[in-house]
Amino acid sequence: MRFSRYFLTTLKEVPQEAHLVSHQLMLRCCMIHQVAAGLYAWAPLGLKVLQKIEAIIREEHAAIDALEVHMPTIQPAALWKESGRYEDYGKELLRFKDRHEVELLYGPTCEEIFTQFFKTHIKSYKDLPQRLYQIQLKFRDEIRPRFGVMRGREFLMKDLYSFDLNKAASLQSYEAVLGAYYKIFERMNLKALAVRADTGPIGGDLSHEFIVLAPSGESTLLYDATFKPGTPLTLDDIHNVYAVTDDQHNPETCPLKADQLKTSKGIEVGHVFYFGTKYSAPLGASVMDDKGELTPVHMGSYGIGVSRVLAALIEIFSDEKGMVWPQSVAPFDVGLVNLKIGDEACTAMADALYTNLKAAGIDVLYDDRDRPAGFKLNDMDLVGLPYQIILGPKNAAKGHVELKERATGKLICLSQEALMAKISATDGLAKLSSLFDAAQCA
Ligand code: ATP
Ligand code: MG
Repeated sequence: MRFSRYFLTTLKEVPQEAHLVSHQLMLRCCMIHQVAAGLYAWAPLGLKVLQKIEAIIREEHAAIDALEVHMPTIQPAALWKESGRYEDYGKELLRFKDRHEVELLYGPTCEEIFTQFFKTHIKSYKDLPQRLYQIQLKFRDEIRPRFGVMRGREFLMKDLYSFDLNKAASLQSYEAVLGAYYKIFERMNLKALAVRADTGPIGGDLSHEFIVLAPSGESTLLYDATFKPGTPLTLDDIHNVYAVTDDQHNPETCPLKADQLKTSKGIEVGHVFYFGTKYSAPLGASVMDDKGELTPVHMGSYGIGVSRVLAALIEIFSDEKGMVWPQSVAPFDVGLVNLKIGDEACTAMADALYTNLKAAGIDVLYDDRDRPAGFKLNDMDLVGLPYQIILGPKNAAKGHVELKERATGKLICLSQEALMAKISATDGLAKLSSLFDAAQCA
């Protein structure tokens, strides 16, 4: 993509309304645009990252045989009255009527419609288990929407619902999703911790929140100081490792002494629940079991705050210059900066590099704007792509480029042939980091 053709206007100043680094950087890089309190439009750069996160989620859900579906955002209130949640949910639930005076709501979560969908189509235990998910907007009329997309009113959630014959089978689904979640967060370089949590308005008797450690997080958690966040746990060990949100911690019953605990702030990026027949019983989602008897299915639901994950990534992967994306979710693989548009040789070489990189399957943001060199370099640091290829007239005359690793700031000079030899259609940029180990870095 040529920068000159892209929808990306950067801000040097920190917007006054934004208090969190992620919110500031998302505004400074034109990733989001506030439409009203807690309602955001996604600009191309923001949407591109969101789609990378979604792609990882989709792959790991496919790996546990979860199937993607798509439900409407608007739901009939009648269904929520059947499950008993309509009155309980409180003011976060946006309720309204259509022209026929039918009561509707904008879904804050979707247990009811998934249960109804399931029960209409699945009748026999032979068709179990079922794991269905969507990546869809939710609306919660948060009392204080803040921190940009970290706590929006409308936000993007991946929500999965599992349907099994009995509790034992349902816990297998719970465990499978837990495993998928560790993989999802690991692929984004996030060290997530599953902590025991309150079940809240979703209900049920087993629940874990996935929290990534970040000083700016709104959650407070306590966990065994010997435990390494990011270590995947099975359902068995999850009960053994002490990790809880502060509202669940009771010093009287805690198996660890105060000095054996670590306290951290964190961001809740996901939440999983097992709630048995809480929805299937009132909504009549039953299947025929192997003895020919009708039995309500056991269910779980599993959320990931997709748009919040994006903000969490920036909280964790950023520095004073801007964002520092992990490769797996970076909006582009590499930035190419032509420092001097007026220099014919430099521009010809930059154009050729752009073409060659694209041909090698690399997604490039090519800064071809006629702007001062320092301005362009600052913008490239702000956008935070893993690598930058920088081209100025002096190096161009020798057929050389500079390659910069954004995370470390390391800079090396090499011939364009040497650079292209390290970039291949099969491995992408994976081999580039070895250049920095070998070379004398500036
Ligand atoms: P919180 O405690 O942060 O209000 P929650 O426990 O109400 O979240 P869940 O019902 O567990 O949220 O929703 C699943 C996931 O959706 C959460 O783990 C979080 O990542 C995300 N999420 C919830 N509310 C918001 C919001 N207002 N804006 C952005 N993401 C959200
Ligand atoms: Mg939660």
